[in-house]
Amino acid sequence: MEIKEVQSLKSEGLFSMVAELGHEQVVHCYDEATGLKALIAIHNTALGPSLGGTRMWNYASEQEALTDVLRLSRGMTFKAAISGLNLGGGKAVLIGDAKTMKTEAYLRRFGKFIQSLSGKYITAEDVNMNTADMEYISMETKYVTGLPESMGGGGDPSPVTAYGVYMGIKATAKKVFGTDDLGGKKIGVQGVGQVGSYLVERLVKENAKVTITDISEEKMKAIAKRFGVDTIDQDKIYDLDMDIYSPCALGASLNDDTIPRLKCALVAGGANNQLKEELKHGNMLLDRGIVYAPDFLINAGGVISVGNEFYGNYNRERVYRHTEKIYDTCLSILNLAEKEKITSQEAAIKMAEKRIEEVGKVRIPR
Ligand code: NAD
Repeated sequence: MEIKEVQSLKSEGLFSMVAELGHEQVVHCYDEATGLKALIAIHNTALGPSLGGTRMWNYASEQEALTDVLRLSRGMTFKAAISGLNLGGGKAVLIGDAKTMKTEAYLRRFGKFIQSLSGKYITAEDVNMNTADMEYISMETKYVTGLPESMGGGGDPSPVTAYGVYMGIKATAKKVFGTDDLGGKKIGVQGVGQVGSYLVERLVKENAKVTITDISEEKMKAIAKRFGVDTIDQDKIYDLDMDIYSPCALGASLNDDTIPRLKCALVAGGANNQLKEELKHGNMLLDRGIVYAPDFLINAGGVISVGNEFYGNYNRERVYRHTEKIYDTCLSILNLAEKEKITSQEAAIKMAEKRIEEVGKVRIPR
């Protein structure tokens, strides 16, 4: 499989896009009574059933929703593979307003569609979806994870995601500075939501000098007060004198405008799709000598958590032990990238594809 610049996809028709990205199946779901419009994309099931959250968004067009679901499900394939999970990549998007449309009937109808795929796709939370929504979906399908702890689930995966990001930062620091001790290191964290705030807590415990930013002034001030860290205006974070930049907000924060401004030695954060264009911006960082920890590897704690929940007998300690392996994997990827003179994102995808290729051949499909 060749690495594609997803963001520069030229095709717009479903079949040509699927042909470019290599999806196995894309399902359109419509229900007149509840107004449900959903797309489920199954990218690859060579290692196991496809798993990926459901995102609800008021997309400007169906094309936008389709592009999103295809791009995100492909990312899940690599994330599961690189994390050593026996899972494939999938994703679902619900087109509509999460504030007004999410009724019990709507969510259960969506659950029925998931059930009709007989386990080829397993869902979980993503943007604008929560554990309560998963409860309704679980009334119609067993192929759902990310359930509340009261139902035997793992609960909020964000603390596990933050732990994986922390492991990724330490591994990258080891590669760049020769030590993974973050004491005294100047770290800029963009976005102090679920993942960012748990991360800041760990960094502060290790005596790092943390500066945070967030578009929510209120949230930023509350977290700064709680952990005694500095704050900076949202756009100024890129010009901050820092050793480490940790993007934990939304995607595409590494782009033509921001990369030339960065003064850090490494970038390692929890946000998905940090590089606006994978190859172009990965190479821009490489040219500037800034080491980049691949996002889909170091933010995999969440999928490790929900994946373990799906296997059954959720065990928090086992989940954290699994997530800790991100440290070693990250170092291997950075070494491979250096050896082959490619970007770390390319090295990570290469490693994920190797596992899909090799293990996919020996695995007996269930
Ligand atoms: P969240 O919504 O709780 O937090 C995101 C924070 O970023 C919010 O506080 C928001 O105000 C802030 N923000 C948005 N745009 C910003 C900007 N331009 N500058 C500064 N701050 C900005 O979300 P989260 O669950 O913490 O997830 C954060 C990122 O990590 C997302 O990209 C998500 O896809 C990714 N991720 C999360 C998990 C998880 O377990 N929650 C797992 C894997 C990946």
